[in-house]
Amino acid sequence: MGGKRLILMGPPGGGKGTQAKRLQERYGIVQLSTGDMLRAAVKAGSPLGLQAKAVMDAGKLVSDEIIVGLIAERIQQSDCAKGFILDGFPRTVPQAEALDRLLKEKELKLDKVVEVAVPDERLMERITGRFTCAKCGEGYHDTFKQPKKPGVCDVCGSTEFTRRADDSAATVGARLKAYHDQTAPLMPYYKAQGLLEVINGDRDIDVVSKDLERVLGT
Ligand code: ADP
Ligand code: AMP
Repeated sequence: MGGKRLILMGPPGGGKGTQAKRLQERYGIVQLSTGDMLRAAVKAGSPLGLQAKAVMDAGKLVSDEIIVGLIAERIQQSDCAKGFILDGFPRTVPQAEALDRLLKEKELKLDKVVEVAVPDERLMERITGRFTCAKCGEGYHDTFKQPKKPGVCDVCGSTEFTRRADDSAATVGARLKAYHDQTAPLMPYYKAQGLLEVINGDRDIDVVSKDLERVLGT
């Protein structure tokens, strides 16, 4: 693969996590999802989790300071030495600038930023139909990706699944607004650095994966 330090960008429910997990499997580089880190903090009931929960449930963005702190700590860990796939980070221009500084300090560079583009009108169904294996975190969808055996996780065999507190119809509008207002400006930011590739995420999961492999040069 051409790139080892990647960013997957795209709207909420656009398929970033689904594709990041596949890349993680295929290339042995870790998926770093700030959303997953925050949900783990909420579950653990830590002060950070308590603070983040209300913001997440309202479909707004958690402060840049908190998020950059999480990522700064995470990318120091040894499993990131081979590279990483950032999923859901950065989401604002100040976060992208902080990431550039963090990488520069370590004399590292981003290899590629891929935008998985999906039109707004598809995202309500993607988000409200999402569910996840409670044990291994494999992602599913009521319409688009049911477990092969109903009620049993394809990956680990667990029969417990969860739905995210923020995956309600009520939050979708706020999450899309945050995306268009605060995250969309990152596309010109990375385009100017010559890093941006855009793929059409409004196709079957396997077709999107193939296209992703193509732009990553595999
Ligand atoms: P994100 O990480 O960008 O928020 P997810 O990867 O969790 O998005 O995908 C959102 C939901 O849509 C999940 O339920 C997932 O199974 C489903 N999904 C992902 N990619 C596709 C696709 N290309 N077509 C249809 N459904 C998809
Ligand atoms: P996600 O799992 O990426 O859909 O993120 C779920 C929620 O966590 C978002 O709606 C935000 O409230 C918060 N969040 C995740 N990543 C970030 C980030 N990089 N910056 C700000 N808030 C974030």
